[in-house]
Amino acid sequence: MPAGKPAGIACVNLDDAFSCPLFGRPERPDLCAQFKPELSVCGDSREHAMQLIELLEIATEA
Ligand code: SF4
Repeated sequence: MPAGKPAGIACVNLDDAFSCPLFGRPERPDLCAQFKPELSVCGDSREHAMQLIELLEIATEA
């Protein structure tokens, strides 16, 4: 997604199992490879992560 990804829209690379098929491959964007998971951002489950993402989107909306 070279033009960026709007909030609330999943990455086009995400597969049906919510996994990244580019993980570990050279085609994976540098930004993704550099991201270090943190509990304060990722939570401890998918549901927790979605709650945190929603809060971050509200806090950063323009
Ligand atoms: S790691 Fe990056 S490329 Fe892979 S699904 Fe997530 S955002 Fe998309």
